[in-house]
Amino acid sequence: MSQKVPFRRVTRDAQSFSLSHAGVKITGELTAFRPKLLLLRARMEGPLEVDCYRCGATFDIMVGENVSFLLSEGVFKGQDDEFDVVEIHEDLIDLEAVFDSEIALIQSDYHACKQCREEG
Ligand SMILES: [Zn+2]
Repeated sequence: MSQKVPFRRVTRDAQSFSLSHAGVKITGELTAFRPKLLLLRARMEGPLEVDCYRCGATFDIMVGENVSFLLSEGVFKGQDDEFDVVEIHEDLIDLEAVFDSEIALIQSDYHACKQCREEG
């Protein structure tokens, strides 16, 4: 199954997708929201390798979160009060790349390994 979805192919009928990335399973759907804007809703779940911000040790966290944001076809002008907007500068939405960024965002949070947490 391709993880590249043509912008114009997405309609008001939810289009579901699933992919997995570095152990995290992602299932979600895309729907047309406004002209040149799509709404993406997804559930991210599974173990993800992160680095401890204190000692640098690598360990797994369990990811379990729902994300929703808008995908803009090209540059997005203005703002949306409810959702973050991700600009896509191609005709195809590369879902792997979109979730690369989402996962990098989670990894860049401060995570402390078990040992560091116990030491306080
Ligand atoms: Zn640590």
